[in-house]
Amino acid sequence: MPLTPSFEQQNLTMFLVLCSNDTLSEEVLQCLRLPSFDCSEWSDEEILLLMQHMYLHFDFPTKYNISMTTLRNFLFQVYKNYNEVPFHNFRHSFCVTQMVSNAQTSSMTVPALFVRLWVFGFQMYAMILKVDLIKLIGDLEILVLITSCICHDLDHPGYNNIYQVSHDKVAKNYIYITLVIISDVSFSIFFRR
Ligand SMILES: [Zn+2]
Repeated sequence: MPLTPSFEQQNLTMFLVLCSNDTLSEEVLQCLRLPSFDCSEWSDEEILLLMQHMYLHFDFPTKYNISMTTLRNFLFQVYKNYNEVPFHNFRHSFCVTQMVSNAQTSSMTVPALFVRLWVFGFQMYAMILKVDLIKLIGDLEILVLITSCICHDLDHPGYNNIYQVSHDKVAKNYIYITLVIISDVSFSIFFRR
């Protein structure tokens, strides 16, 4: 179910208050890099603040001329458009964006790393820091990866793929378009190096 307007406004106000207070300690920021980080202890507004930090950490607002107002509005719109479903919800998007794998990745080649990310899920922020991915693929790609992780299950209805495909013509169309795109080798990042 989508958020009700009053609840939505309340969350936006609290998020903006947290932003203005800049309440993230150095200890928290260090924990954010770890696989043990547990988002269940954090409120939705605090999670939005942590997501904002991921953009600030890489200095994306300055590098890509993104105002803080635009960034905060974007993050809140993302939050607003996740459904309250058991798994593919806003907190899941944060976990995918933040969590690091326990696997040793520092010796992996870039294609191997991306295969691993594909197999185990795009657990981005800490993984990017762990292998210093920004040096390997550049700023813009990291911005795209983090943003993709944050958005990857937007408006997910909570049903699995098998149910969706057998009940929803729109889902079938999405799958067809996706297959067309990923079948084109020129779009593949695996083969560029
Ligand atoms: Zn997901």
